[in-house]
Amino acid sequence: MVLKIVQVGKPVLREEARLLPNEEILSDAIQGLIALMRDTMRDAPGVGLAAPQIGMPLQIAVIEDLQSYIDKVPAGQASERDRTPVDFHVIVNPVLTPEDDSTVEFAEGCLSLAGFSAKVPRFTCVRVECLNEHAEPVTIRARGWYARILQHEIDHLHGTLYIDRMDSRTFAKT
Ligand code: ZN
Repeated sequence: MVLKIVQVGKPVLREEARLLPNEEILSDAIQGLIALMRDTMRDAPGVGLAAPQIGMPLQIAVIEDLQSYIDKVPAGQASERDRTPVDFHVIVNPVLTPEDDSTVEFAEGCLSLAGFSAKVPRFTCVRVECLNEHAEPVTIRARGWYARILQHEIDHLHGTLYIDRMDSRTFAKT
């Protein structure tokens, strides 16, 4: 089963999502939601999905970037964008910190703004402190495209969309 992905204009995409206590993360309801988010992301397909995108204002996102997706992008793009596969994982209650001031600008899209893209500056290297789906603390260090995915998904948990950060003259139909 897959869920419907909320499109821009729905208030839930602009809300601050709620933090989850450890016992709630481990609940059947949240474990079931995570499985549905995983299946919805894969069905789309996308490299990340945040709970507000399926209408739930909760601080949960799922991320996965497969080699099979990377194989489909034009030659040279993956290396230019520093894009390498990322195994499926779940981030809960994440706090993101840039590792330094370095930024890089590439086009990105969003499953909640279907059919559009724009160039967005993002930090090159980030650190994320969060919980995983077992409510265990995790520190993630990421660079390149993975760092971009993390920034994009964590923005969703604070009601921010890429259109708030884009170079608006590059906004385009895909
Ligand atoms: Zn998005």
